[in-house]
Amino acid sequence: MGKIHELASVLADQIAAGEVVERPASVVKELVENAIDAHATQIDVLVLESGVQSIRVIDDGDGIADDDVLTAFKRHATSKITSRADLFRVHSLGFRGEALPSIASVADVVLTTSTGTTGTSIHYRGGKLLKQVPAALRQGTDITVTDLFFNTPARLKYLKSPQTELANIVDIVNRLALSYPGVAIRLVHNSKELLRTAGRGDLQQVIAGIYGVQNARKMVAIEGKTADYALSGYVALPELTRASRQYITVLINGRAIKNQQLTKAVIKGYGSKLMVGRYPIAVIALTMDPLLVDVNVHPTKQEVRLSKEPDLAKLISTTITDRLATVNLIPSALTNL
Ligand code: ADP
Ligand code: MG
Repeated sequence: MGKIHELASVLADQIAAGEVVERPASVVKELVENAIDAHATQIDVLVLESGVQSIRVIDDGDGIADDDVLTAFKRHATSKITSRADLFRVHSLGFRGEALPSIASVADVVLTTSTGTTGTSIHYRGGKLLKQVPAALRQGTDITVTDLFFNTPARLKYLKSPQTELANIVDIVNRLALSYPGVAIRLVHNSKELLRTAGRGDLQQVIAGIYGVQNARKMVAIEGKTADYALSGYVALPELTRASRQYITVLINGRAIKNQQLTKAVIKGYGSKLMVGRYPIAVIALTMDPLLVDVNVHPTKQEVRLSKEPDLAKLISTTITDRLATVNLIPSALTNL
């Protein structure tokens, strides 16, 4: 007998979970992304005790067919891509088929789902299937994750203060709301509503909901285009700044990404208009051929590889510079909020 053996699938899922499910906010991100991929128009995120006690996400999306529910919890099982070519043309937020099995391997998960006809409810705990029964639900999915990291004590210990974990959740949901103004998203923590967007497709309204109406009034719409890229969004007037870069959101094809060069390009667009150590609030939505962006770099897909990053950075900074040059002529509030 050799010494090398394949790991049991629950163990393999837990290892994958180490990357995908770092903290409660990662669970929220994966579940809301799944709801968006399922064409939900209304998504409710209900969180107890910063997500450590429970995270529930209810959507009115496509639902999962009865005979697909078990498969959805298998590793690398996805409905979103099938071929290698698809991998280079990802249009959905998910495609790796890792979230559900990962979450189910380190928590207690009850998922109830319906495609509009029949429905199923399924219960996993620590990667073990405990129960699967028919269930009645209007079309959509209702998933509750409790006891997160109950079987991975090191992960549980590594969590930060409840305030920090909640701040991470709020940040993730805000970014998703900014990415999808057409989806009505609600975030409730311990029965306190922290965010509610109307889902009317109005980005400025979402910005007002997140950063406040007064601040939204101090932001101007921007638009730019090259042969490869289209840019739209809102940027703050130089008078509205923050002490951190965290308020700069860059979206590529509906996905909030982390990219230093593009964040720097936003700041560069302000030239000398910003004081040292101050940063703008900005939402930059970029669309491009999926072939120009590789999202398969990291399990959480927040880092991406861009084929023509300098061109894109230039588009961002010049669009902002040009736009801010025009507002000097017409001071403040160009908005109709
Ligand atoms: P991925 O999103 O990468 O495909 P997941 O593990 O997150 O992988 O989900 C597995 C599959 O389960 C998805 O491909 C999708 O078909 C289905 N699914 C998960 N969540 C939902 C949901 N809220 N609504 C409809 N289908 C869902
Ligand atoms: Mg997913």
